[in-house]
Amino acid sequence: MMEDKKKTNEQKHEHIRNYKNELSLLSDEKANEVVGRSLKMYYIIDSLKPSNVFQFKINEYVEAHMFVIDDEVQRFLKKPKPYDDELTVESIYSGMAGIALMYKLFANRTHNRDKTIEAKLIIEKCISILNKNSDSVSYLTGKSGIFVTAAEIYRDLGDIENAKKMIKKVLDLLPLALNKKLPDILLYGRAGYLYSLLLLKKLGWEDPDRDRLIRKVVSAILHNGIKTCEKDKPKKSTLMYKCHNKKYLGAAQGLSGVLQCLLLANTYLTKHELHNIVKPALDYLLTLRYTSGNLPSSMCNDPDHLVQWCQGAPGALHTYALAYNVFLDRKYYDAAVELSDVVWERGLLTKGYGLCHGVSGNSYAFLTLFQLTGKAKYLYRTARFVDWCLTTGRQRKVPDNLYSLFEGVAGVTYALIDMQCPVAANMPGF
Ligand SMILES: [Zn+2]
Repeated sequence: MMEDKKKTNEQKHEHIRNYKNELSLLSDEKANEVVGRSLKMYYIIDSLKPSNVFQFKINEYVEAHMFVIDDEVQRFLKKPKPYDDELTVESIYSGMAGIALMYKLFANRTHNRDKTIEAKLIIEKCISILNKNSDSVSYLTGKSGIFVTAAEIYRDLGDIENAKKMIKKVLDLLPLALNKKLPDILLYGRAGYLYSLLLLKKLGWEDPDRDRLIRKVVSAILHNGIKTCEKDKPKKSTLMYKCHNKKYLGAAQGLSGVLQCLLLANTYLTKHELHNIVKPALDYLLTLRYTSGNLPSSMCNDPDHLVQWCQGAPGALHTYALAYNVFLDRKYYDAAVELSDVVWERGLLTKGYGLCHGVSGNSYAFLTLFQLTGKAKYLYRTARFVDWCLTTGRQRKVPDNLYSLFEGVAGVTYALIDMQCPVAANMPGF
């Protein structure tokens, strides 16, 4: 009998995707009062810096996480070269390149050159064991992310010659990125390669051919998105993308992630493309929301379960905040605010603390909302979510890649470092 009862409880928990956020149940008036009273525990509003107490707590956790990750890094640096038939891409998402990216952020924020040098050792090792035959080109899971990160690290160290070599390596991937078989999605497709090119531009990549190359990738993404919609009768969207024959909608594998990259590349689109192709797709996506306000994962009648960066409201929210900045259409501002309320209500995930489908990834939703609105309540929400990761031992699932940037400890650490500068914080790879 007892056994049965236990089993039923476990089965029940299987379906619970998030913990209840009691604070989301407060009336607006009460919630404002709580923010007014409690924000100072986390942030000094005038300087937008963490309070002394919160800073102490952040430092303690960053230090502890770094200690564990450093150990893993040492093991990686000693690791022998993989066998020829082993397909290795130490990606930003789940491999050691993500750790290098986190070290780079830490080094920049703390002016710690030694950490930049450690980041260089990691990324050079990643490149040395990279399988030449791998055709993955995206930023998060492919080779371009590794080369771009290497270019950034070399630039930080003043090694311009090697930075340029890395830029060349990213550009050499262009034929693979334009291969018709490659999907367009952010996680492992063409939009993810476009993201890398845009980062190179920020890095100071100068080339007479630069804008033509970026436009080529943009054109391919637009072309495929339009083509996917052609068979729809009646026509519903102006853009749609398929991955594994499914029309996904979220940030990692779906329409909102591709739209995010097109919006980041908005200066490479014509006015017509922006207003008559991208904007209607953004508007269409909004019509697909559940009554809860959350966004479905795909066009396949999925149940309203997922509220995480890769699928659902938290990822799409970044896209609508960016869409507001590009189009200055109030509808997108309101959409971002509404999506953030879904994250506040249902974003304390039982799955874990990671960036991709965990609480620290969801905390970035509030950082973006703070940057969009300037409202203190979003700083408070960021801090509450991050504090949850630090003080609540309620991670039910051990991540696949325990130390990785998008699923593991490095992701929480990245968010902890980044949130100390809320105006500049940015979800990596997005
Ligand atoms: Zn995920």
